[in-house]
Amino acid sequence: MPGYELFGKEEMDEVMAVMKTGVLMRYGFDKERGGVYKVRDFEEAFARYLGAGYTLGVSSGSTALKVALTAMDVGPGDEVIVPAFTFLATYEAVLEVGAIPVMADIDDTLNLDADSIIDKMTPYTKAVIPVHMCGAPARMDRIMSVCSKKGLLVLEDNAQSCGGSFQGKKLGTFGHMGTFSFDYVKTITTGEGGLIATNDKNLYLRAEWYHDHGHDHNPLVTRAMEGRTILGFNYRMSDLQGALGLAQLSKLDRIIALQRKNRDMIKEALKEVPGLQFRTMADEEGDTATFLGFNFPDEKTTMSFQKALSTRGVDTVCFKNNLWHYVPNWEHFLAKSTASSKKYPFKDPGYKGQVTYRREDIPRAEDLLGRTLFMLIPLKFAEGRLEAIQEAIAKAAKEI
Ligand SMILES: *Cc1c(COP(=O)(O)O)cnc(C)c1O
Repeated sequence: MPGYELFGKEEMDEVMAVMKTGVLMRYGFDKERGGVYKVRDFEEAFARYLGAGYTLGVSSGSTALKVALTAMDVGPGDEVIVPAFTFLATYEAVLEVGAIPVMADIDDTLNLDADSIIDKMTPYTKAVIPVHMCGAPARMDRIMSVCSKKGLLVLEDNAQSCGGSFQGKKLGTFGHMGTFSFDYVKTITTGEGGLIATNDKNLYLRAEWYHDHGHDHNPLVTRAMEGRTILGFNYRMSDLQGALGLAQLSKLDRIIALQRKNRDMIKEALKEVPGLQFRTMADEEGDTATFLGFNFPDEKTTMSFQKALSTRGVDTVCFKNNLWHYVPNWEHFLAKSTASSKKYPFKDPGYKGQVTYRREDIPRAEDLLGRTLFMLIPLKFAEGRLEAIQEAIAKAAKEI
């Protein structure tokens, strides 16, 4: 998962090239910057990597979601379908634009279940956010087919599976828009940062205007003289982040190859564990292998295997118990404790729907996430670490 493991001379050189100009802003200062435009170069390189028409660098993966929802005109009165298994930011972004997140179930890939979209749809549903969790793709063929039949907008949250694909097409390019995160622990990192991809010029322009106070970015005039479009805000990426992004992007395929190699070695050891099954993949080839997921027939065996590994210094995550990635555990969200004393948007009088967030609403997530463990796959093993993991697995297998 973490691109910072490969920080080196490339990142230093890119950042220094920006420092030497003294211009950290991505726009303007055309004379002073001597032709150095790192965010612009990063966007172009990322668009080529994805095979996407347009890309926009922004300040984080969370703001990427918010800017994309805004560009798609999702707002007050609308509902957005989001899987129960995701990072909190996906739900927060929906609330940030004044819309209501509707919790949907997952399928055996542990990503959004296409059938659940139909179950959770109401007359207020405007968009769907599939999230490619823990490195691996959702079933985008089924999700796109349901959404196009029902006329729903699709925004892919691809914060966790950067560089992954489904049936040969890069994740983040299936929906109307797709978002990426480059925070400190993601596959490639710019410290904080995010990016939006789309093939729709109109959606791109709305995002570009909104993320920079409505500037029309007319190349023929100076920044101060640019035209004003829609009202917006500041969600810009800085040129230091763009510089880091360029260096990290050039290593992305190497990062994924290393993760796959290391995953395969751990997978080999886990194959010997009785009753263990690996996470179902919608497309094995498209898995970036940031994590390795596996399950047991019941929660009791799962917990005892987790404990047996952890006493030997090997950590795994059970997301049913995780405080940040599973809706039923977010007590502040369930209490509708937004920053607004009026509990906006939950109590928005313009919202006509009725939303519930009960465990009974998501039976497959309750079952599958309780019997699944995830192991983070590093890019590099410290001396003797791989052998220690293999030995811990072999011993734990005898105790369950
Ligand atoms: C990390 C993450 C985000 C948010 O990205 P930030 O850059 O940390 O704001 C959004 N969605 C998912 C699924 C994530 O894992």
